[in-house]
Amino acid sequence: MRAHENFLLGQMDAVVFDELLPHGSVVKLTSGEVIAETRVEIDRVYFPHSGIISCVVALTGGGVIETAMIGRDGAFGAALSLDGRRAFNDAVVQVGGEATVFDTRIFSDFAERHVGFRRQLMTYEQFHLAEVQQTAACNAVHTVLARTCRWLLRMYDLVGDEIAITQESLSQMMGIRRTSVTDAARVLQNSGAITLSRGHVRIIDLSKISALACECHANVARNYRWLRHRER
Ligand SMILES: [Zn+2]
Repeated sequence: MRAHENFLLGQMDAVVFDELLPHGSVVKLTSGEVIAETRVEIDRVYFPHSGIISCVVALTGGGVIETAMIGRDGAFGAALSLDGRRAFNDAVVQVGGEATVFDTRIFSDFAERHVGFRRQLMTYEQFHLAEVQQTAACNAVHTVLARTCRWLLRMYDLVGDEIAITQESLSQMMGIRRTSVTDAARVLQNSGAITLSRGHVRIIDLSKISALACECHANVARNYRWLRHRER
């Protein structure tokens, strides 16, 4: 069953698989696809199996800054679907993949009837909020190289060691100049941590990237381990 490839869905109770999953469908996520727009009602909830959905804040003047990544460890629109359904920010597919999706009305009707399911969704939303808060702190004080490493570690968690992303989109999402990302990528390539090719980053040595990253990825990962396994 494909839905198990999403860790959040995979840890849900059997009732989710028996009652909710028959109403879901599997869709492709295409890089660049906009799945939610600010102040527009969402009509689907996404549980990615692969790929990355970026939550972004669009700024006057055309810039967008990423505040969180959602992949096979999470969901987009789950809490939103329960009330109001209006997106507060844009969400864009950054790396293509696949997702199980549900109509928001069917999803929220099911959640209304299952308090345990709602509780699990709310716990995930708290994790997601903590990731956004960590990103805000990270963007304010950490160096471009450390932040680039943090992003690579997060993307590695979600899609593995082959990451289909351009330096251009990376710099846009991080809200920094393209040349700053190029400099950071060059440092990482020269140290043997990554190789770069057109539109692709390949992770070669994760330990080198971890050593250069700020603490933000480790903090988010620790929260996630707690979410999944209740580990400290
Ligand atoms: Zn940081």
